[in-house]
Amino acid sequence: MTTVQCNSCKATYSPQQADGSAYFHACSPDVVTTPAVFDAAGKITAPEARAPRANIRNENLILDPQTKQATIVSAGNGVTVLP
Ligand SMILES: [Zn+2]
Repeated sequence: MTTVQCNSCKATYSPQQADGSAYFHACSPDVVTTPAVFDAAGKITAPEARAPRANIRNENLILDPQTKQATIVSAGNGVTVLP
């Protein structure tokens, strides 16, 4: 089964699920820019900071009503096929 890595968010996944159906990856919309800080008791002393992810990949399909061609919502930075 083929495994690919999203070049936008670095997630790895198979475009085909175990039951044979297609999987359409979409990056999470945010990226953690600064991790949360915890004290020795595990209490958060500084919350994480997030920012919108740049160049999100979204493989869900949209249909052009005129051409009847389906394309993915956004290619992002593409994918790399893993060996
Ligand atoms: Zn992604």
